[in-house]
Amino acid sequence: IEFATASFKSFESIAGQNVYTTAMDFQEYLNFLEANGHLNYRLESHSPVGPEMDLKLPGDTHTTRCICLVSNDYLGFSQHPKVKDAVIESVQKYGTGSGASPAIGGHFNYHQQLENKIAQFYKRQNAILYTTGYTANSATLQCLLHEDQENPSKNDLAILDKDVHASVYEGCLSTNKKSFMHNNMEHLEIALKNAQHKYRTRFVIIDGVYSQDGDIAKLDEIIDLTHRYGAYLVVDDAHGIGVVGDTGRGVIEMFDAFDKVDIITGTFSKALGNIGGYVIASPEIINYLKFQSRQHLFSTTATPAVMGIMKAIDLIDEEPVWRHKLWENIKYLKRGLVESGFDVGTTASAVIPVKVGNIHKTLEAGRLLLKAGIYTNPIMYPAVAEKNARIRMNVMATHTKVHLDKVLKAFHEVDQVLKISNKHSQ
Ligand code: PMP
Repeated sequence: IEFATASFKSFESIAGQNVYTTAMDFQEYLNFLEANGHLNYRLESHSPVGPEMDLKLPGDTHTTRCICLVSNDYLGFSQHPKVKDAVIESVQKYGTGSGASPAIGGHFNYHQQLENKIAQFYKRQNAILYTTGYTANSATLQCLLHEDQENPSKNDLAILDKDVHASVYEGCLSTNKKSFMHNNMEHLEIALKNAQHKYRTRFVIIDGVYSQDGDIAKLDEIIDLTHRYGAYLVVDDAHGIGVVGDTGRGVIEMFDAFDKVDIITGTFSKALGNIGGYVIASPEIINYLKFQSRQHLFSTTATPAVMGIMKAIDLIDEEPVWRHKLWENIKYLKRGLVESGFDVGTTASAVIPVKVGNIHKTLEAGRLLLKAGIYTNPIMYPAVAEKNARIRMNVMATHTKVHLDKVLKAFHEVDQVLKISNKHSQ
C-alpha cells in the first residue's frame, strides 16, 4: 500500500468550490480526481452481485477479483436459486415487459399479488407499487404535500430528519419544509410545537435505518410526539426490511409499530434483491395515490420479474438463516473494527461506516483499500456533512470470515499510513 502523491491543497481548492458553472469546469475536477486515482465512481463489475466481484479498476483493461462491501443485497437473495427460478418461471409465462402504465392496461395479477403480499408482510391491507424506492418516496410526498400560495391556511409542512434520503428531499422540493437535527427528539418537538395550528397537515418524515450511519430511528418516541402534536408519520425503511426486527420486518417490527405509522415506504432493491418501491398506507391514501400520483399513473409497471420479489418475501420467513448469518457477519466486522480503534458511530444495521472526517483522507483510504482488493464506498459531501466523510460498507450474509478478516487486515494497513483510528490520537 502506498500513499498517493496528490497535492491535497490543490484537491481542496477544486473540490471546495462545489459549484461548477460549466460542464468544462466539472470535467477539470473529474480529470483531477482521475489523475490521482480517486475516480472510483461507476466501477464496472463483470460478475454477479456477491461478496466477491470482478472489477475493472481505474486505468486497467483487465478485471480484478475484489471483496465487495458495497452491495445492499444484504441477504444475497438476488442470487438465491429459488428467487432466480421464480423470475425465470415468470418470464416464461408472462414475457419480459408489462406493456403499459397501470391505468391503461399495465396492471397484472402479479402486481396485485405483490401489493397484497407486501401490505400483509406489514400486517396491513393496502399498498401501491412504484418503479423504484426513490420514486416511492419522491412521488408520494410530491403528491400528498401541497403549498397553496393563494391560501396559506391550506399549506402542508414536511418536518424531516436532517439525514433522510435524497428521494425524500426531492419529494419535498416544492413544499414548506423544516428539518430537525438527526434523531434529536427535543429538536423535533420544537419543530412540531412551532408548526401547530399553522399548517393544514404536518408530516414527520424519517428513515427507519439511516443509509449513511446505519443507525436506527427512535421510532417509539417519534410516534409519541407525532401523535401528541396531531402530525402524520412517514417512515422509509429501505435498509431495515429483511435485516432488522425479529422476523425481518424492519424497524416497524422492532418497535411493534405495525398499526402506528401512517405511511411506510420501502424498496425491493436491497434485502429483496430486485428493484421497485412500495408505499403502505390507509385505503384512502393508497386510492388517492393510485389516481393522483403522476409517477404511478404515467409510468409503465414493473416487469413480470417482480415474481422473484414474492419468493424473496417468502424466504424472509422460510429461511431466517440468511438473516442470522448476516448478523453474525455484522457483529464480527463491527467488533474487529472497534477493537482496532476505528470509529463506527452508532450503527445497528448492515450499514457500517468508518468515520474519517477529512475528505481527502477518505478518498485516499478508499483508493488504498481498493488497491488491496477491498471494494468500499468513500462517502463525502453532499451525501454527508463536509467534515463527516467516511468509508461506508454494506455487510452481506454471504461474506465469510475469511473475507471479513481480509477486510480488517486491509483497514489495519491503511491505518498505518493514514492514521485514521483513535490509536493515533492517544
Ligand atoms: N431510501 C433510502 C433510505 C435509500 O438508501 C435508498 C437507496 N439508495 C432509497 C430510498 C431508494 O431506493 P432505490 O435505490 O430502490 O430507488
